[in-house]
Amino acid sequence: MQLDIFTLLLILGTGCIFLGMVLLLAWLQNRSEDGLLWWSVSLFLRTPAFALILLRERIPDWLSIDVALALLLLGAGVSWAAARRQSCRPVNLVAVAAPAVLWLMAGRFPEIHSSLGNRVAFVSAELSVCALAIAWEFRRQSRTMGRLRAAMAAVFLLSGLVHAARAVYAAVHPIPEMLPDIGNLVASSLYVYLLILFAGGVIAVSFYWEQLVSSLKYEADYDSLTNVLNRRAFEARAENLLRPGARRQAPIALLVFDLDHFKSVNDRFGHSGGDTVLCGFCALVQGQLRNVDLFARIGGEEFAALLPNVGRQESGRVAEQLRRAVAELQIDRPGGPVSVTVSIGVAVADTAGVRLDELMTRADAALYDAKTRGRNRVRSAGQARADQASFPPPGARRAEQLAG
Ligand code: GH3
Ligand code: MG
Ligand code: MG
Repeated sequence: MQLDIFTLLLILGTGCIFLGMVLLLAWLQNRSEDGLLWWSVSLFLRTPAFALILLRERIPDWLSIDVALALLLLGAGVSWAAARRQSCRPVNLVAVAAPAVLWLMAGRFPEIHSSLGNRVAFVSAELSVCALAIAWEFRRQSRTMGRLRAAMAAVFLLSGLVHAARAVYAAVHPIPEMLPDIGNLVASSLYVYLLILFAGGVIAVSFYWEQLVSSLKYEADYDSLTNVLNRRAFEARAENLLRPGARRQAPIALLVFDLDHFKSVNDRFGHSGGDTVLCGFCALVQGQLRNVDLFARIGGEEFAALLPNVGRQESGRVAEQLRRAVAELQIDRPGGPVSVTVSIGVAVADTAGVRLDELMTRADAALYDAKTRGRNRVRSAGQARADQASFPPPGARRAEQLAG
């Protein structure tokens, strides 16, 4: 099927409006993503440009040529800004307007203004530079942000090459002045442009969809106050690490933490002072653990850490190091620094196939042991069992907490 230039421009103009509306609605849902707004403005600028080109010979040349092409180039500059804002990079407004301003200045020269070939060559060269700059922005982001950005980079690289080919073709071949007879190569470059526009649109929308899903996943998995894993996500990941077959015979250690006399921290410094202490504690512990360790808030001021490949001796040493670091920590807050201590219960699974709830019960009993022995100390499940006769059984502490 061969579409004429007018139909192509009509489809391009309508496509830009449609895609611009989709991106504008997406921005209204999530206003912190200002890249979406820039993309939608860049598309809205193109629609009047295509409309003015369509009206060629029915409206004055300064509108259908000068203003139309300036809008098209401004749209390209705004697209470049959108790509930069997607990775929170600053936008230089002079650079955004530069392609349009350059065209308006070049259009003052009759050799450029009065020859369709020269106009197409000049504007295509500028569009090519913009598309390549956008491709570069996406290429840079794809190193850290994955395949969709790499696909965006490829789409805009293709667009840059098509514009460059059109610039060269228009510069060396005479092009008839009448719009409907522009020639097959220019018409086919509009087809490619159309394809790129829609491919870019689909990718942009799916990219933001992916971002939305990952931000929802983050909210589902992380505690909003401390930004560490929440209990549900911890349990899911820990069960995965503990399942038979996930590890050979490497041990795995569970540490449970409970801040000491935290009620009195709240009483002395208020709830927001308590919140600051929780955040300071999490930052400290997370900073001391390895990337492979899981650390989570499992209750109000109760936390857990699962340390793969850590045996009995090593787990006691790590827990003691953390306990000491917490005791030495001075947490900044407006009324002066606050310090806090923590009790830690440790349980180790030497073999595969130990269930998380079993391990948790043992670590909890050891934590209870640490509390009853005066707090600010580490106790391990083995030690707790040895003294079992003189202390209440595992689970008693939970029962006591529930009761009180
Ligand atoms: P213990 O040494 O026996 O653990 O004493 P404790 O005072 O820490 O006792 P308990 O565990 O019963 O108290 C925990 C307190 O933590 C009670 C609750 O008000 C407070 N808390 C729970 N969640 C939050 C929170 O998100 N922010 C603040 N500021 N306080 C919290
Ligand atoms: Mg508690
Ligand atoms: Mg406590």
